[in-house]
Amino acid sequence: MTPENSARARKAKNLRQEECFSFQGAKKLSLEEKLFLMETKKDRVSHIKIDQKKCRSCRHKACLIVCPAKTYENRHGKIEVSFENCLECGSCRVACKEKAISWENPRGGFGVIFKNG
Ligand code: SF4
Ligand code: SF4
Repeated sequence: MTPENSARARKAKNLRQEECFSFQGAKKLSLEEKLFLMETKKDRVSHIKIDQKKCRSCRHKACLIVCPAKTYENRHGKIEVSFENCLECGSCRVACKEKAISWENPRGGFGVIFKNG
């Protein structure tokens, strides 16, 4: 290895270590803090509708697990949707094998308008 290549390799190694340390030192954000990084314009009309009949017989309730914004909640056996929390990631549509979720993009001008993280 030439001295030039060796210097480059050392620099790359140091960079990787710096990235690693800064990642490890990063503060773990709570859900509330993560949601604070998003700016949304709340609509009055929900862009998410669910088929409660399918939800009642659903055993895995994957929507409760996959949604990063806790949009879905199980209240006394009934799934409730806080659509205004939605971060528009689309995970719930994929995870719900019963196809009980009818999800549309929020109306123009509503929903996530800014992501800062
Ligand atoms: S995963 Fe689908 S069917 Fe099951 S509770 Fe959630 S929305 Fe309902
Ligand atoms: S699209 Fe993402 S954030 Fe919105 S309800 Fe589904 S899983 Fe939650």
